[in-house]
Order: sequence, then C-alpha cells, then structure tokens
Amino acid sequence: MRVLTWEAFTGPALPGQPLWSPWSSSTPQVVYQSGASTECPLYLGLDRALLNRYVQALTRAWRLVGLGPGDRVSLFDFGSSPLVFLASAFYTPYLGRGAAEHLGCTPICNDGEPTMGSRALDILRFVNPRVMFIRRDCVPSWLQDVETRAFPVNTHLSRLVVADDEAVLSERQRGDLEEKLKLPVVRLLRVDLAFFLAAECPDCRAFHTWDDLYRVNILDEETQTPLSFGEVGLLATAPRFGRRRKERPIYLSRVRARQASPGCPRGASDLRLEVLS
Ligand SMILES: [Zn+2]
Repeated sequence: MRVLTWEAFTGPALPGQPLWSPWSSSTPQVVYQSGASTECPLYLGLDRALLNRYVQALTRAWRLVGLGPGDRVSLFDFGSSPLVFLASAFYTPYLGRGAAEHLGCTPICNDGEPTMGSRALDILRFVNPRVMFIRRDCVPSWLQDVETRAFPVNTHLSRLVVADDEAVLSERQRGDLEEKLKLPVVRLLRVDLAFFLAAECPDCRAFHTWDDLYRVNILDEETQTPLSFGEVGLLATAPRFGRRRKERPIYLSRVRARQASPGCPRGASDLRLEVLS
C-alpha cells in the first residue's frame, strides 16, 4: 500500500507551485481548483466517467440527509466546491446529470463569500429550501446575520448541513448550533484531494460512505500502517474510480476517525465512520 501524505504530496514548500491530484484524469473535461485558501493551487481533473462516479457520492449524501423528489436545496459555497459543481448539469459542462437531476431536486446556489449570509437568508425566505449546505467558515458571519435579523431559520428550513474539507465541527459545536437555530444540523466531510465525501447520518450519527466508491483505511499516525477495527487513527482514502489501480496511492488525510460496524437502516451496506474533530 503506497501511502501519500499531504506533506509528501506538496513536498518542500514551494509558494505558488501548482499541484495536480494524483487521481485526476489525464484527459479531463473539467479542471477545478480546490481549496482557494490552500497555500498552493490544487487542481483536479475529471473526465466524464470520474464526474459520474463523484456525482453518485454526492447523490447518496443528499439522499442520506433527507433530500428527495421535489425538494429545493440551497448551496452556500463557492462554485469550485464539489458540493456545488456536482449539484447540477446546469452548473458544469459535461456533467450530464448532477445530484439534482438524479434525485429530482432543484438547487439554488448563493455564493462562497462568508459576507453573503444575508442573501442566504433571503434565499431561505423566498425559496424555502428543505436543506441548506453551508461551508463551515461561512457559519459565524451567517449566524450574525441570523441574529441581527432575528430570522426564524427553522420556519424556512428543515435541516442544515455544515461541510468542510478534511475537518468537521465537533459534536459540541454541532449541538450548540442546533440549540441556537432550533434546527437539526448534520455534518459533511470532504477530502477534496481524493474526491472523497462522507455525510453524517441523521439517525445513527456516524458518517456514511460507500465501499464501491472509496477505499477506506484507518492508519496509525506514526507508522502509517492499518489499525484494528474500531481503533482511532487517521482516515486514509482513495477513490475506486479514476486512474489505473496500480498507479493509485491511498491518501492519508488529517482527519481522525474510527470505523463502526455497518448495518444502519438508512444504508445497510454503507461504510460507517465515527469522525473526531
Ligand atoms: Zn446511519
């Protein structure tokens, strides 16, 4: 098993040095830059097959958080987030069908700038989406707008999904947010470099992901070797789609997690992870 760490991937710090995801297609139809705030531009190239498989992951995440036919869904994130560009064929050329077309939902995209919180509230007010996805760093200023306007979020929205790349809110932070908003909140984990998505289940509270889409291991932080089932270590993952198998490393993320037994009624065969913040 070839393990790729972020440090090994980026090498010695080379400011401005562009990086290319090792799982990218060599003949991409879409190239996007992940993590506008990372120190080096990280590009990911996806051909139609890669796009379709990545869309499957997002579609399953949408279904897990309760979206279905006829629902509207609000997206408060940049267009370069996989939560946005995989959402609809209207957002991305060559996508064919996004999560919205697969599930029969209508997405409404706001913006990724944290200062756009007031408009996110206007979207809730006028469009009444069932679920809103928000990037984690947009939450504090959005909450200020909620308080300033004394906006009754829970009369316009059924669930909030807070997403981040290689990080999640702590359970306590999630609980505080639910208390403030009087609204169910779930978390979504992205590992953009490896095209990875996992969504927190509203029922079992583990993060569901999918064995047919992703290889998942929990590795010891020091030795980078696999741990026994249930032990806490670092999440290592690689998409099962993409470049030829022998060329694929597994990416050692910065996310601490442990595996839980499968068997949740919301996805009996899904992989389940307990993610520690
Ligand atoms: Zn579950």
